[in-house]
Amino acid sequence: MISEKMSKLLERSAAMSSMYTESARLKEKYGAENVYDFGMGNPNLPAPDSIRETSIRVLQETDPWYLHHYMPNNGFPEAREKIAASLNRRFGEHFDANNIMMCTGAAGGLNCLLKVLMDPGQEILTFAPYFGEYDRYADNVGCTLTTVPPNIPTFQPDPAALEKCVTEKTRAVLIDNPNNPTGVVYNEETIRAIAAVLAKKEQEYGHAIYLISDEPYRELVFDGASVPWIPNDYKNTIVAYSFSKSLSLPGDRIGYLALRSEVEDFENIVAAVAVATRITGFINASGLQQLVCAKCCDETVDISFYDKNRKRLYDALTAYGYEMPKPEGAFYLFMKTPTENDLEFVEKIKEHRILLTPGSGFGCPGYVRIAYCVAPETIEGALPGFKAMMEYYKN
Ligand code: PLP
Repeated sequence: MISEKMSKLLERSAAMSSMYTESARLKEKYGAENVYDFGMGNPNLPAPDSIRETSIRVLQETDPWYLHHYMPNNGFPEAREKIAASLNRRFGEHFDANNIMMCTGAAGGLNCLLKVLMDPGQEILTFAPYFGEYDRYADNVGCTLTTVPPNIPTFQPDPAALEKCVTEKTRAVLIDNPNNPTGVVYNEETIRAIAAVLAKKEQEYGHAIYLISDEPYRELVFDGASVPWIPNDYKNTIVAYSFSKSLSLPGDRIGYLALRSEVEDFENIVAAVAVATRITGFINASGLQQLVCAKCCDETVDISFYDKNRKRLYDALTAYGYEMPKPEGAFYLFMKTPTENDLEFVEKIKEHRILLTPGSGFGCPGYVRIAYCVAPETIEGALPGFKAMMEYYKN
């Protein structure tokens, strides 16, 4: 018999698993090429060839005992050093290995970090719409996730709304930039305004409020958009990064946390993350992946592929009359549904064999997320269905 708490979590996760099942059922019935699955953010591009080549080289050249045994829980020093050097080159940081902690993807890093920062009963704030698993991460550490209402239609977070939500219990603000599910890039002006609110609230309450920036899509940006490097704007920033999307390695579970030495309680945070990796069961990130990604950390998949998909979908959908913010990052479109009931829309569009994720799962009903990390044929095949749905709701 499983715990009551887990039973509830299982129920809530059923929507996600049912998407897999539904996709498989429709593919079986109509043939895979006739099903247009935009449900999951599972990158369809393969990892660059250099990942395979580097993996082989690392396996051949590294002492197997060293590579495969337990290691310092925050990761191999040389991997952390290489990533620090890359961030120094790209963002003018002054990091060394001590500022980087390797972790098992963004999810592993965030869960370890929250374990370190949060006491049960405290609050984590985020802006809706947000990555749906944040509330479960908060629950893992006995905390609540408070959401700042969405700022429609731009979806740039509203600092004034944030100010109203921060309380004495707020210890962390968690943002996801570029954003999943909207594809919006929180710009420098927004980040500075958020930083000003948090600095004021730190003063008022007399304790640190950490700004955790979850950035698995950092390099996936278009139209010359740039993602602000938040440590420049706010002292108590901790960046969570993952190679899941930039190098198409979600199955390999590899990423890192990065923070400046000036962050309040820096040394304790670093030491405690090492402990948190153990007690949460993440122990340490895969040794092989650490060494491979450290060597390939300045590369990315072919981002122009996602850009083409983005343009094709955005142009076609807006021409049909749909509304959405023009995404500048990640590989998602967040589209307003022509009915207020996004769940109904998601059900109805299945008649056209199109699978989408309801905005309700991201704390923003009335919208759907379209993950366009798919083959161009999937987009072409789906467009008539999107058009028909708009006509259906107009009439
Ligand atoms: N954070 C965001 C915003 C995501 O979109 C995802 C995955 O899609 C994650 C975290 C988890 O990433 P990872 O696979 O690196 O753990």
